[in-house]
Amino acid sequence: MTARAEIVVDLAAVRHNVALLRELAGVPVMAVVKADGYGHGAVRVARAARAAGAEWLAVATLDEARALREAGDTGPLLAWLTVPGERYDDVLAAGVDVTAYSVAQLDEIAAAAARLPEATASARVQLKVDTGLARGGAPRAEWPAFFARARAGETDGSWRVTGLWSHLACADEPDHPANDAQQAAFDEAVDHAVDAGLEPGLRHLANSAATLLRPQARYDAVRVGLACYGLDPAPGVDHGTDLRPAMTVTSRLALVKHLAAGDSVSYGHQWTASAPTTVGLVPLGYGDGVPVAATNVAEVVVEGKRRPVRGRVCMDQVLVDLGGDTPPAGTEVTLLGPPGDGRPTADDWARACGTINYEIVTRLGGQVGRTSR
Ligand code: PLP
Repeated sequence: MTARAEIVVDLAAVRHNVALLRELAGVPVMAVVKADGYGHGAVRVARAARAAGAEWLAVATLDEARALREAGDTGPLLAWLTVPGERYDDVLAAGVDVTAYSVAQLDEIAAAAARLPEATASARVQLKVDTGLARGGAPRAEWPAFFARARAGETDGSWRVTGLWSHLACADEPDHPANDAQQAAFDEAVDHAVDAGLEPGLRHLANSAATLLRPQARYDAVRVGLACYGLDPAPGVDHGTDLRPAMTVTSRLALVKHLAAGDSVSYGHQWTASAPTTVGLVPLGYGDGVPVAATNVAEVVVEGKRRPVRGRVCMDQVLVDLGGDTPPAGTEVTLLGPPGDGRPTADDWARACGTINYEIVTRLGGQVGRTSR
């Protein structure tokens, strides 16, 4: 490695995870590859997921959907995050399932659908209902008008309703009462849609945590993100599934220096050596996705030993305590990877930094050179 850092993504691990989830769920898997595949590289993860049996891919934005189509993906693909005035024409023509959650949005999609060339198959629309997360999704009070508009668009040939879905707020806490409440609300929404004359198509509710921990939420497909990357969506809750983390982040020591007792390091002098020691400069910082919250709490591995981060994380650099050892500059530093050989995991970083493993991999993976194997 000559670069200052490298993200290695183990695509065999992604394939293993997706195949495992497909078998466990017993229904089609929608591999969620938004945010550049949670920092792992959307296009390569998408290919690996398809190869391992994922029938669907899912992303947030229409631009993410466009990027997958431009990379050659032609399979079922769902996108769900749009703003008023969004340009739908090309994604509808490309056979992407767009998600609607309001009458106004359905009106916009109808206008775009009317502009589609005759030869193009009809637009595909999935309906999202809010069952308690209070994010995207038609709120309950709007269901009658929303489903009626969806039905009207189906009748006048604007689109085919291909799915009905919602998203859980507390799936990582299997005993949380919101799970039952949301699922009951989802079942009600399905009934309302049927009463409005709609075939709901693919019904889906489960994210990774629900896929692993709540079999009754699997319906006709599961929308699985984090677990595809081998990370645990509910750390501390046993799901007995052999997920394999796909991401390893390495760097190299840029410099090694001696400190005397009383020497302080980095901005604000937030750490002071209590005894003589050595520190190594790792050329990665918050500009690369290393959280400032890692200051004085996260650890890396150098020469097989855990080395604590010392002093405030800077924009492009961070110091680690080498405890008197003097490995040469250029020595490999492992920030995180799959468990084993004393390596910190994304979960270790999340715990240390008071955040979630999702954020650790998405932010770190997004920035530095990425390779796969
Ligand atoms: N569905 C939606 C709407 C999401 O926003 C996400 C991710 O946040 C997922 C599914 C996948 O969630 P997870 O990564 O927990 O499997």
